[in-house]
Amino acid sequence: MFSIIGAGIGGLTTALMFEKLNIPYQLYEKAKQPNAIGAGIWLAPNALKVLEFCGVLDAVFEAGNEVDRITLTNEKLEALADSSQIPAKKKYGFTTVAIHRARLQHVLVKALPKEKMIWNKGFSHYTKNESGLTIHFEDKSTHHTDFLIAADGINSKVRQQLFPESQIRYSGQTCWRGVSPNPLPEAFKHRGCELWGKGIRFGFSQLNDAETSWFAVKKAEGFGVDEPLTLKKELLELYKEFHDIPKELISETPIEAILRNDITDLKPLQNWFQDKVLLMGDAAHATTPNMGQGGAQAIEDAYYLGHYIKSNPEHAFSVFQNKRYKRVNNIVKQSWFTGKIAHFSTLASLRNFVFKQLPKALVDKNMHSVYQLKDL
Ligand SMILES: Cc1cc2nc3c(=O)[nH]c(=O)nc-3n(C[C@H](O)[C@H](O)[C@H](O)COP(=O)(O)OP(=O)(O)OC[C@H]3O[C@@H](n4cnc5c(N)ncnc54)[C@H](O)[C@@H]3O)c2cc1C
Repeated sequence: MFSIIGAGIGGLTTALMFEKLNIPYQLYEKAKQPNAIGAGIWLAPNALKVLEFCGVLDAVFEAGNEVDRITLTNEKLEALADSSQIPAKKKYGFTTVAIHRARLQHVLVKALPKEKMIWNKGFSHYTKNESGLTIHFEDKSTHHTDFLIAADGINSKVRQQLFPESQIRYSGQTCWRGVSPNPLPEAFKHRGCELWGKGIRFGFSQLNDAETSWFAVKKAEGFGVDEPLTLKKELLELYKEFHDIPKELISETPIEAILRNDITDLKPLQNWFQDKVLLMGDAAHATTPNMGQGGAQAIEDAYYLGHYIKSNPEHAFSVFQNKRYKRVNNIVKQSWFTGKIAHFSTLASLRNFVFKQLPKALVDKNMHSVYQLKDL
């Protein structure tokens, strides 16, 4: 029996894979019910391929919005790099999907048997015994298991017990996210745009016919707190040199729908498992969101893990780590680096000039190396 901790993107997809492959499991989540907070998230073709295998692709498309063009621009919405996703659609069968995080969670939960998910069960710690592991929950209950899969996110309690030396790194950037109750102008309906200014950036994409997700990022000290009464005014001031769309999105969004998070990742761990305990998703390799791949990599983890447990149960965890480690850590590194470039201030014009000259073939090659799911 496998016990999965965490009903986020990674834990739920793992449960779906286990259902599909007939692997016995039970999932435990500390939240009382499905309630993923947050705004929009992009699901790239590599993630969609796995969700197709799990049988939920149609529901994801129904709940989200296809993004068939991704454009990096300056603050006036003038393109620096424009990437049509149509070639990706031809190659993989789909483009990227923008979807509200809560709706994605809903789709995944709905596809799973209710009795396999136990809500309101916060993991506390585990102990080892001769026949396996005992999981201790915050409510003092216990459960015996053969294997423990930690999908409990960047602040993973399982990881803190397994590798207490692990370190979360602050990127020096803070991010506001929001969902505006309005669609974008028709020309932007299926576009994802990221606008790079001097030391700040802004991104948006439509989530469905009625909502648009956005994010705003600036360099800041960590753990900043906003004053709700003045936050919108401050954001509007920050983005005053930008095109009107960002300012409209900020203005339209109810203040309670604006969230703030410092952008962090996990310093790469040397190992993702020990004996019968495995870390996956953000618990193992949280990345900054600059490439929109953190959730996609958690989804990929689920895919490979399920297959390796099925094909090589004795060594599944080590095969999983060997297969995934290099790809995932390259994404973590590249994403960290992209975040640094995005926040150039004095060198912003030079950066924009260089990005405009980047050969399309190079941009596409990089995109496909991320979108292409590697063989098992
Ligand atoms: C601003 C921002 C934008 C992003 N945009 C994208 C994007 O566009 N595309 C993309 O692919 N990724 C994106 N990501 C990354 C993505 O959100 C994460 O990589 C993804 O959510 C990781 O999934 P996970 O299941 O590993 O962890 P999580 O989604 O964090 O889920 C962890 C789950 O474990 C539960 N849990 C925690 N502790 C316990 C406990 N003690 N006991 C039981 N349960 C517990 C939590 O309640 C939660 O449900 C973004 C991230 C951020 C911060």
